Amino acid sequence: MTVNREIDDILQRGADGGRITPEEALLIYTDAPLHALGEAADAVRRRRYPDGIVTYLIDRNINYTNVCVTACKFCAFFRAPKHKEGWAHPMEEILRRCGEAVELGATQVMLQGGHHPDFGTAYYEELFSSVKAAYPQLTIHSIGPSEILHMAKVDGISIEDAILRIKAAGLDSIAGAGAEMLPERPRKAIAPLKESGARWLEVMETAHRHGIESTATMMMGTGETHAERVEHIAMIRDVQDRTGGFRAFIPWTYQPENNHLKGRTQATTLEYLRFVAMSRLFFHNVAHLQASWLTTGKEVGQLSLHMGVDDLGSIMLEENVISSAGARHRSNLHDLIWMIRSAGRIPAQRDTLYRHLAVHRTPEEDPTDDRVVSHFSSIALPGGGAGRALPLVEAH
Ligand code: SF4
Repeated sequence: MTVNREIDDILQRGADGGRITPEEALLIYTDAPLHALGEAADAVRRRRYPDGIVTYLIDRNINYTNVCVTACKFCAFFRAPKHKEGWAHPMEEILRRCGEAVELGATQVMLQGGHHPDFGTAYYEELFSSVKAAYPQLTIHSIGPSEILHMAKVDGISIEDAILRIKAAGLDSIAGAGAEMLPERPRKAIAPLKESGARWLEVMETAHRHGIESTATMMMGTGETHAERVEHIAMIRDVQDRTGGFRAFIPWTYQPENNHLKGRTQATTLEYLRFVAMSRLFFHNVAHLQASWLTTGKEVGQLSLHMGVDDLGSIMLEENVISSAGARHRSNLHDLIWMIRSAGRIPAQRDTLYRHLAVHRTPEEDPTDDRVVSHFSSIALPGGGAGRALPLVEAH
């Protein structure tokens, strides 16, 4: 209970699984006492996941090219076409990295890259069908709506046709990448050449209708207002009302190094935690809430487990995009399991569909493979580190 009756009522309704309006979400985000907000969000988690399990995933994020025509101001990863540091990995290199990931127990691959001016739908068809043929055990949870819009534009075909073709080639689900900020004002400010938030949602809705599910993300901290953050999640929830195709919501914080936007991330730890808790209450129709320990650090990642979070995402065997912009946090399987267990939860490895693959009820049941560590390869490596075996950069 707080001293404000209106806030109490909203928190109670959210905790009970009721629907709260965007205006109510903004009020509890800015004004509810942290402990009451966290307690209400955690009540949702307990009701949805009474077994106390918090999940994680082993995957590898493979970037096929850093060449991109979209030049988002916050992006430290891309190189303009013809730039001497631009690269596109040949298929053998991508398959080699998939093989390494499988060897380390990955169940999922995230293939993501820039908007290369030459990469139309046929490129992605070959990419997905080659990975599927070589490693059918890997779930291809890859690309994002902006890559789909790009390939459709390159070929002059509809979004629907592009989706149907890449689905047939082996794409299993779409990552929530490229959402950043969906409302028009903050999106234009950070990514003026990127397609609109409405188009991002149009791709997701079309994919959901064709049986391709996805996650949804948000990048906070580039100067957007509290109201715009709420507007972002309201836009996603409206689509979810119609499709039910978003499996999880994953907010993360802007990383300010090596890009044109620079500045400091304007999302404080407290803002991040409050937003996580509020979004658990707001998304009564989305099953999972994932914390981004990669950008916020392990301690904040662990705190988020008391704010409604039920999933810590992945031990990313490789990640280039966020780490290029300054994310320094990395983890091994042991750390990740420790984060979960010392928060009083039961760790479990999951697959892309959130099915439990291994539940570690006691420390004796923990996996012992020390090689499963999150690594960041560096785009500073010539050719994007092609041919280099993991670890590309030592974890510490
Ligand atoms: S965020 Fe993606 S679309 Fe934007 S510049 Fe970077 S690689 Fe290109």
